[in-house]
Amino acid sequence: MNTFIVGLTGGIGSGKTTVSDLFNALGITIVDADVIAREVVAPGSDGLRAIVTRFGDTILDALGHLDRAKLRTIVFSQEREKQWLNGLLHPLIREQMVAQCHAAKSPYVILSVPLLIENNLQTMVNRTLVVDVSRESQIQRTANRDGVGVEQIESILASQCDRETRLQAADDVISNEGDVSSLNEQVADLHEKYLTLAQM
Ligand code: ATP
Repeated sequence: MNTFIVGLTGGIGSGKTTVSDLFNALGITIVDADVIAREVVAPGSDGLRAIVTRFGDTILDALGHLDRAKLRTIVFSQEREKQWLNGLLHPLIREQMVAQCHAAKSPYVILSVPLLIENNLQTMVNRTLVVDVSRESQIQRTANRDGVGVEQIESILASQCDRETRLQAADDVISNEGDVSSLNEQVADLHEKYLTLAQM
């Protein structure tokens, strides 16, 4: 049977992890693109081997892990290297997302992808669920969580699609302007809806 996949997305600090934890507590498998993005460059992976071949082993830290900060600096200043890296990693990540979704045993799967809309990955999912929150809350909550400055958060916001674009792409929306108990109710309602849709 085909797996019913709900794509969960939202901007930085919108509450995707908080929401996916609630679906997970209802027994739903979460496939997380951020986790997969780390797995495909883990020590011993084909992804890491290809990166070392291209950039040399100074791209590794003392423990043999990918030095992400160093790699970020390279691709930030060199468009060609950025394209090469995306060409390597995007298919690997996509392949793993598909494999993990199809291996899931729950009645439907939540595929959490921060840049689902930006990277045109909506074709991978049956429905798009957007966690919506004001820009002010995104900044405040991210600053509280990560202890980083507003400027850094604003530059990430600028690299993501805007609130209106995301809402237009949504089949379902969770508003995360309230407290976590309001999230619980919205997740419980959507869970019922997805159980029904997954059986159709
Ligand atoms: P990112 O894309 O940056 O990884 P995210 O979308 O996964 O973020 P979360 O980590 O779930 O967002 O939430 C951001 C922060 O806001 C967390 O510290 C979380 O505990 C907090 N948070 C989430 N929802 C609420 C809420 N309704 N009220 C107050 N704080 C919240």
